[in-house]
Amino acid sequence: MKTLMVSVVTPDGPVMEDAFEMVSLKAENGELGILHGHIPLVAPLSIGAIRLKGQDDTKRLAVNGGFVEVRPDKVTILAQSAEKPDEIDVERARKAKERAERRLQTKQDDIDFRRAENALRRAINRLDVVENR
Ligand code: ATP
Repeated sequence: MKTLMVSVVTPDGPVMEDAFEMVSLKAENGELGILHGHIPLVAPLSIGAIRLKGQDDTKRLAVNGGFVEVRPDKVTILAQSAEKPDEIDVERARKAKERAERRLQTKQDDIDFRRAENALRRAINRLDVVENR
């Protein structure tokens, strides 16, 4: 099967660059499955897992927003953050999840609900990527 190059970059630097058979990711307007030869596009990314299917296994990354640029033989992911499962600090993610849940339960006007909701989604995504590594 033809492969395509995938490059993942965050503000902290490059996270990975390798050839894969298929990339699945969550764009803001839905799931995208990308194979070699895909039409070129640029799309905003949601908080979600990126699945990189290689010949022998599938790698997952927890990604927190950004953009994907697709060309027929290359996918570039510019993410706010992107972690491999073994880089994820589970305790930190659990604490972030609890903190966000507590904020969302508090009925106070000065709570920024959208911010807390996004923090919750980031934490759940990280825990999900670790559990399904
Ligand atoms: P926290 O409240 O724990 O800081 P957050 O969701 O607000 O979590 P982000 O703003 O998404 O954190 O990320 C800031 C930086 O910290 C990024 O470099 C990201 O990769 C890293 N990071 C955040 N949470 C974790 C985690 N649980 N394990 C490893 N790295 C993490």
